[in-house]
Amino acid sequence: MSNAPRMAAISTIASRPAGEYPPTNVPGTEIYGEDVFNVNSMRDALPKSVYKKLIATVQSGEPLDPAIADDVATAIRQWAISRGASHYTHWFQPLTGGTAEKHDAFLEPDRNGDAILNFSGKNLIVGEPDASSFPSGGLRATFEARGYTAWDPTSPAFIKRGLNGATLCIPTAFCAYTGQALDQKTPLLRSIQALDKAVVRMMHVFGENGGKKPVITLGPEQEYFLIDKTFYLARPDLVQTGRTLFGAPPPKHQQLEDHYFGAIRPRILAFMSEVEEELWKLGIPAKTRHNEVAPAQFELAPMFEELNLAVDHNMLVMEVLRQTAERHSLVCLLHEKPFAGINGSGKHNNWSIAYGDINLLNPGTDPHQNAIFLTTLCAVIRAVDMHSDMLRVATAGAGNDHRLGANEAPPAVISIFLGEQLTDVIEQIEKGEVKSSRHGDMMRIGVDTLPLLPRDATDRNRTSPFAFTGNKFEFRAPGSSHSCAGPSVVLNTIVAESIDAMCDELEKFEAQDFNAQLQALLRKVISAHKRVIFNGDGYTAEWLKEAERRKLPNLPTTLDAIKPMLDQKNIDLFNKYGVLSPDEMKSRYEIFLEEYERKVRIEGELALTMARTMIYPVANRQINRLAGTVAGIKAAGIKAGLESSILAMEKIGELADRMCADSRALETALAESRPEKILAALRQLREGVDHLEKLVDDELWPLPKYREMLFIY
Ligand code: ADP
Ligand code: MG
Repeated sequence: MSNAPRMAAISTIASRPAGEYPPTNVPGTEIYGEDVFNVNSMRDALPKSVYKKLIATVQSGEPLDPAIADDVATAIRQWAISRGASHYTHWFQPLTGGTAEKHDAFLEPDRNGDAILNFSGKNLIVGEPDASSFPSGGLRATFEARGYTAWDPTSPAFIKRGLNGATLCIPTAFCAYTGQALDQKTPLLRSIQALDKAVVRMMHVFGENGGKKPVITLGPEQEYFLIDKTFYLARPDLVQTGRTLFGAPPPKHQQLEDHYFGAIRPRILAFMSEVEEELWKLGIPAKTRHNEVAPAQFELAPMFEELNLAVDHNMLVMEVLRQTAERHSLVCLLHEKPFAGINGSGKHNNWSIAYGDINLLNPGTDPHQNAIFLTTLCAVIRAVDMHSDMLRVATAGAGNDHRLGANEAPPAVISIFLGEQLTDVIEQIEKGEVKSSRHGDMMRIGVDTLPLLPRDATDRNRTSPFAFTGNKFEFRAPGSSHSCAGPSVVLNTIVAESIDAMCDELEKFEAQDFNAQLQALLRKVISAHKRVIFNGDGYTAEWLKEAERRKLPNLPTTLDAIKPMLDQKNIDLFNKYGVLSPDEMKSRYEIFLEEYERKVRIEGELALTMARTMIYPVANRQINRLAGTVAGIKAAGIKAGLESSILAMEKIGELADRMCADSRALETALAESRPEKILAALRQLREGVDHLEKLVDDELWPLPKYREMLFIY
């Protein structure tokens, strides 16, 4: 029982040689995409006719011609082997929140006792990984537990490198024998299809007659923490739960705001450079890197891409962050709240819809485009207002519960930030008061009777969960460890429904009256749904009161937040758009609930063990020490120091007693299996332990302290 692990960690870190990771100095343009079977690799590797058919599938979403599968497989195999791959895997995203892979060697024995390298069209297109241990929420009975993976040709195959080998990864969807989705990708692809269809319908009303395919775009900003591996290994809570269950906040944390956008330390920069190099090889357009608000917190943002690809890429970003950290003796923490009292990590989902060259959420330069912009904007406002409960579902989770509503992350109430100028425009439309003259940098928007739109109407607001940021919406509530698929599935589906509902009316308008009727429709939508718009500070208690007055749902914990998945209106909506069947939706509810309960239980059990086996003995040691001091003072027959030592002993004794009582309460809560009770008991236990940390001799404290983990690296 001592501080030896902490001191050993600090001296290990201090003695690490500088410049351990020399830069490779390879220009990004030379390595970009080299480990991806991208359009160029396809063109080089495939006969022209096969290439054309494959491109039609990849770029225009046409069904894959099964006749070309063998040719494509051969080309991919040759390409992968030339890049050093010995194995292949169907890479998929089960409902565990991570990614999954099961490797097979290309190698197969032939009849003569030698071996050949083989990979057929069938190997490419379907896999039967069995994979019966993944969560299915009751969709698979064990006797027919087999799961299937199916090639997603719209996300290119890539190569993943290990220390002494490489594996060809084929992005796939994962479903049950019955075709029911068991993964993140399947509903994502379905929701993209649903929104595409609605957008085509809307654009038809605005005179666009086909040929172009909508593209939904996503740019996910990823926040993360880095701490030294030696500290991590001395914290069982980080190892087992991803967050610290104990730990007193240090005197200095983020209040000086000296970390945010600060100069990046050389060791971290070396890490970031290597991460970028790995990502660029995978064709992932990592663009921005910086220090975040909390000490030891950082952010990586890529350029936005087509949604399905961006979701796959973000899964890879998280993996590359973790693995590269390991090579640098660091650990990347993707948990939403690894350190209590200090900013947590989110994932900002920047989302928009493009049609041909136009971004539908860009207030454009000509009147026609601005009418399209306002219609799309109103469709999103309507969707978020009507279905904010489902957006909240998409941000739920044991980790994110500690972040949403804490004073640095958006609240659990979903509202939209539009910015003052755009809100002004919306209000004008609602009132029917319209400015018609054109001046300065105002622009006309479509219809004579609609007001002018200011250019660059992007003010900044960091407290909104769902902010319009100039030419896209930024959904900031999702957690740093979440897949972007969940939030995107919801957003796509509810916006598709909204666009359809508006099209039902738009399509009835008479050509000569279109402008006036459009304005009336926008006005109606705004009046009905403007309660969801809030431009103020989302962190205040007043907003929560105001939100209640507006009847916006506020569901702070996962247990409540996921319940809307069982509401008939939501089941019907996701079923109608073919995104999730009623069974799939219910199974997902079961899976989320079970995952939440399991995570909370693990935290409770670990906290109990740590309190009893690591902290309580320290308290006793401290009492013994003080008892020795008291006896010594008494033996010397003096008074000085006696009272203070006795008081200190009493204080520690009280905290030790409290810890025993709190531990018993936690034990009871665990026995009852009630997550709310477990979390409350854990908080109670933590309070006493954190107090103890501040009183016990530093040389007795075994767990690395916040001031060490967050500042020494
Ligand atoms: P911030 O000020 O929040 O950092 P940025 O303009 O730097 O905002 O962009 C953040 C993210 O938004 C980037 O990943 C960027 O590629 C993405 N983004 C920009 N335009 C779009 C768009 N039209 N659709 C989706 N994402 C976009
Ligand atoms: Mg942002």
